[in-house]
Amino acid sequence: MERKLLMIPGPISFDPEVLRAQARPSLSHVEADFGAIFGRALRSLHQVFMCEKGQPFVLAGSGTLAMELAAANFVERGQRAVVVDTGWFSQRYADILKRYTDDVELVSGEVGAVPSLDKVEAALKARPAKMLTITHVDTSTGVIAPVKELAALARKHGALSVVDGICATAACEFRQDAWQVDICFTASQKAIGVPAGLGLTMLSEEAMQRFQQRQTPVPNYYCDINNWLPVMQAYEQDKVAYFATPAVNLIYALDVSLKQILAEGMEPRFQRHARLGNAFQEGMRGLGLELLAKPGLEAPTISAMYYPEGVDASLVGKVAANGVTIAGGVMPGLAPKYFRVGHMGACTPSDIVATIGAIERGLLECGAKVQLGAGLAAAQQILSD
Ligand code: PMP
Repeated sequence: MERKLLMIPGPISFDPEVLRAQARPSLSHVEADFGAIFGRALRSLHQVFMCEKGQPFVLAGSGTLAMELAAANFVERGQRAVVVDTGWFSQRYADILKRYTDDVELVSGEVGAVPSLDKVEAALKARPAKMLTITHVDTSTGVIAPVKELAALARKHGALSVVDGICATAACEFRQDAWQVDICFTASQKAIGVPAGLGLTMLSEEAMQRFQQRQTPVPNYYCDINNWLPVMQAYEQDKVAYFATPAVNLIYALDVSLKQILAEGMEPRFQRHARLGNAFQEGMRGLGLELLAKPGLEAPTISAMYYPEGVDASLVGKVAANGVTIAGGVMPGLAPKYFRVGHMGACTPSDIVATIGAIERGLLECGAKVQLGAGLAAAQQILSD
């Protein structure tokens, strides 16, 4: 049997207990036993998002659906949305928002950077904005944004803060209540540790109040939270209700994975990811590779590295042949110049070491000048500290 380590930025390698949960026979989505499982999962989400009184929504769909949920419900035609642009996924958010309003402004920085707080504040000041969207970790560049500071700017200027936590939630420090973030969402296949197919959203109490001020109907049927609110409220109380069939077996897996996440504890989890990310990134620097993320902006969950001179995207295939699946670049125009590695969720120090080892051998096979062991030594230093 071929055993390959999956180190892309989602889907990640899943814990066997989570996968086993998914294989259990389906219950009816309207029987009490399922209500209790879904209820427990929804209640756990408050702890993961660190949002005590928020309203969780778990919908069948990928992360893009969760992005669309926030756009469809919280911006109306003619209202303005400001997008903090840290890469291709931020830009995707602008595209989604344009389906709901014509007034969308991207505030961009250089590749690998976050636009300055001053630049973002100038955009918020220029004209009233309904929302400011922030990609916590942009998976296309491996850049982490200062969510706390950006959310504070949004609040100061009366805009809702909307955080795409798809490549960050349950791995990178995030405190929805303390940072007064209005909307945060993620997808199951990343640090949440559940196969792809669930979009998870947490709306603050204030976001729920602002929703009541809408002037026009939500123009998207599946995403309309008026349809979902009674259902989520029922399940959270271990009862059942129906609007559209939930992904029953993924909810089993979510329940188990959230139990594991909370057993580890959020603070230890943030620290573990910071250390894994740091070890991997030092390993890459030890090999002489340059990261797309500027110093200090490297995400704990994913790393994006330029290919060294003389090496091209064939590296990805060579690393796969060495037993580790990694990902190519995705930023338009820049995609052929870099590759990406995810290190989140069930990822272990041994996975980091195995991946750096496979990258070293792959680089050698590509004809790059590489000192075998240089990346491993740098990473091991951090992992053994
Ligand atoms: N935003 C971010 C930051 C992401 O990493 C991704 C997925 N890589 C998405 C949005 C889109 O999510 P999905 O592919 O699950 O629709």
